[in-house]
Amino acid sequence: MYQLLDSKYDNAKLFENGMTDCGKPLHTFVINSEEEFNPEKIKAAGKAVLLIENGIHPGEPAGIDASLQFADDILRNKNGLATLLKNAVIVIIPVYNIGGLLNRSAFNRANQTTPYETGFRGNAANYDLNRDFVKCDSENAKSFTKIFRKWNPDIFLDTHTTNGSDHKYSVTLIAPQPDMFPPAQQKFLREKLIPNLYSEMKKGDYELIPYVSWMYRDPKRGIKMDQFSGRYSSGYASLFNSYGMMTENHVYKLYADRVKSCYQFIGVLTKFTSANAAEIIESRKKGFEESVSAKTYPLNFKLDTTVFNKIEFKGYETTNDKISKVTGLKHFDYDRSKPFTDSVKFYSTYNIAETIKIPEYYILPQAYKRVTERLILNGIEVEPLKTDTIIEVEIDYIDEFSNAKHPSNGHYFHNNVTTRSEIRKIKYYAGDLLIPVRQKGVKYLIEVLEPKAKDSFFRWNFFDNILDRREYFSSYGFEENAIKYLNEHPEFNKKFQEKRKTDPGFANNHRAQLAYIYNNTEWAEKSYKRYPVGRIYTPSK
Ligand SMILES: [Zn+2]
Repeated sequence: MYQLLDSKYDNAKLFENGMTDCGKPLHTFVINSEEEFNPEKIKAAGKAVLLIENGIHPGEPAGIDASLQFADDILRNKNGLATLLKNAVIVIIPVYNIGGLLNRSAFNRANQTTPYETGFRGNAANYDLNRDFVKCDSENAKSFTKIFRKWNPDIFLDTHTTNGSDHKYSVTLIAPQPDMFPPAQQKFLREKLIPNLYSEMKKGDYELIPYVSWMYRDPKRGIKMDQFSGRYSSGYASLFNSYGMMTENHVYKLYADRVKSCYQFIGVLTKFTSANAAEIIESRKKGFEESVSAKTYPLNFKLDTTVFNKIEFKGYETTNDKISKVTGLKHFDYDRSKPFTDSVKFYSTYNIAETIKIPEYYILPQAYKRVTERLILNGIEVEPLKTDTIIEVEIDYIDEFSNAKHPSNGHYFHNNVTTRSEIRKIKYYAGDLLIPVRQKGVKYLIEVLEPKAKDSFFRWNFFDNILDRREYFSSYGFEENAIKYLNEHPEFNKKFQEKRKTDPGFANNHRAQLAYIYNNTEWAEKSYKRYPVGRIYTPSK
């Protein structure tokens, strides 16, 4: 269908943009007002870029169909839609998870009855692509990153379908969470973009509400706006000061209504993008300037449960006493015979839980090729050192971390990371990377390289090689060096002998005594749990 549109209209073109894991290419379909598809030229003309990506979860295909319908309608200028292309260019990824889309079955989605047959959530390498934006394991994500960099979209929509909760709405929105953006963009989001989308949707057949992320199982007790970190589409977009959002169509509605409501949202979003192109671009520019010149960075947030506004919510009463037709047992359900309209609390404010001082440079040993590869892919500028040198840097030691019991998307993700920082003189080699922090991808850079950030490369196991020791001492082999050390360091020896006198358990444990010497002297392994990315705070190197 996109090929047909491409052949019929001069102002639209279908592109191949790199590979996906199933060996088939990723596509973009670009719709402009004229036969011009060069992003630089289009941006120079003052147009805002709207990127729409569909089928990341192919079992949630409403956006795939809605985008196609919208592309057809805007190109044939149905209802004068083509005027929207005056200030906006639309880039559509018809299907992102191509491998998943081709893996079709009527049994891929247990919680939905239509469409009869769908694709599968995992891609050809069985990744959930909506967890893969930052860690970028899949070919799909690598190709997507290039598309994202090429177009640097002002507005980005990722279309989904959900079976979480039940209510009367066909489409819900995961809006960009304002607190994740610098002040100028927060203001634009809170005062302009987000309210506009809800009020414009209200004028159409399908009303829009926030995605129902409940505080409790009963939505009447309040719903919250989630923050999506860089592993997710919308969170990834925020790392580049781009306004990323997700629609979540509601799976219990007729498929036709899911598609039509998603179509309506795409129309509203395109209209907003076109009508506010200059302001969108300006707010991003200001936001970027704020990000790049900030002294501190909010690394972690916590939902403020004291601040809320009330929104109208048309839902269903919940029950724990529904008798199952399958098991004959009681279970939680929504009672569709008991609809209600109520005003419910909506929590959307996050407070900063942890702030860091922004360094002027990070320094990354070239040994970490997989990290470098991702930085370069994301357009980060690096300055390889010209000579071997010793640099005084702030370096982190990983104190605590917990390992996930089960792998998540190909990784044993690290939770509860705590670190301590020390100033150390570290040896670097020619070719190691000095990375100026105050550059285009400043937010991305901080979020991937600060080990405690929500989706840091450390958490995603890119630095696990520092978490176990490489050297060791043996119960007999260390003997000679240990006694020599004690003889040459009377102060340390005194402390050691004191411990032997006062701690009987220690005094009777050969291995513990050798370990004490090994761990509390120069023998201690310097690279063990030392996070290899250094920070430099002085502006001049
Ligand atoms: Zn989804």
